[in-house]
Amino acid sequence: MESEEMYRSILNASPDDITITDLEGRIIMVSPASKEMFGYAMDYEGFIGMGLVDFIVPEDLERAQSNIRLMYQGGSQRPNEYRGIRQNQSIFDIEVNSGFIRNASGQPTKMVFIVRDITERKATEQKIQELVQQLEIEKNTAQLNSMTDSLTGLANRRYFDEALRTEFHRLKRSGCTLSLIMLDIDHFKKFNDSYGHLAGDDCLRRIGATLKAIVGRVPDVVARYGGEEFVVILPETEDNGAATLAERIRKAIEMLAIPHAASDTGGYVTVSLGVVTVYTTGLASPEQVVALADEALYCAKHGGRNRIAVAPNYERPRTPLQIDE
Ligand code: GH3
Ligand code: MG
Ligand code: MG
Repeated sequence: MESEEMYRSILNASPDDITITDLEGRIIMVSPASKEMFGYAMDYEGFIGMGLVDFIVPEDLERAQSNIRLMYQGGSQRPNEYRGIRQNQSIFDIEVNSGFIRNASGQPTKMVFIVRDITERKATEQKIQELVQQLEIEKNTAQLNSMTDSLTGLANRRYFDEALRTEFHRLKRSGCTLSLIMLDIDHFKKFNDSYGHLAGDDCLRRIGATLKAIVGRVPDVVARYGGEEFVVILPETEDNGAATLAERIRKAIEMLAIPHAASDTGGYVTVSLGVVTVYTTGLASPEQVVALADEALYCAKHGGRNRIAVAPNYERPRTPLQIDE
């Protein structure tokens, strides 16, 4: 009786929600602050005998009960979070600290729960999470933008350099071939001069889309190399395959039939392509592959444009699988 009086005066003085239950979780006493937090009138006395079920949403009950069992087994006494139910059935976030009240011989006789309304903290956490997600999206977009050519939507030069370096070294280890196609629009300066820069941009976009549609394998990379030049990386592709693909690209662009009256290659926009196939095992740097493709492209231009030119066959190394790094 005396200790119950003592509990009651502590509870009455406490600004926190303090709830004392028997070992079955039935309420014996609550602090006035509990009534306020759970939306009960100050003179409400019906708490006695109520239990967890009346204050925690059904979805959280099992977890709450298992946490109490854990407490019995001397488990960790960390605060637990649940969704509480007010008298008017509205739901809010709570944090619960719990412990035992023991008798003189150390036996648990009652349980005590200290409950805190954490609505505000949860809202802040939610906001922080949203901000983190937003930042993540912006970071990904920025990353994508830094690798994409804004006019054509293709990979840009930076991405190309990176991808070529990666493939160059990967294929050096595997001993497979690497093919590269370098493409340049014929008489594009005259096209801009005749039809305007906007029409020129549109032409670049259409050629970019055509390349993308033709070059389909997953490891292949289509990039805008610069100005009116495009480049295609074809890992593990033999010379015949690369030349066939280059010819398909040439034809497809001719078939777009984009008028180009000032061009001397037939009145339509055409392209010249340089094709190279190498075993990177015998090469020192990726730039050498680009240089070989460039030389082939130069030959295609001088051979009359609207054509492909293949770089002279690179000698297959005797031991293609040898790793010389
Ligand atoms: P060739 O057949 O020898 O390749 O002649 P060309 O006129 O195509 O070559 P040149 O290098 O003299 O000119 C390239 C032109 O490409 C010049 C430039 O105005 C145009 N160009 C480069 N980038 C863009 C672009 O982003 N938009 C547009 N509209 N034109 C571009
Ligand atoms: Mg050019
Ligand atoms: Mg050109």
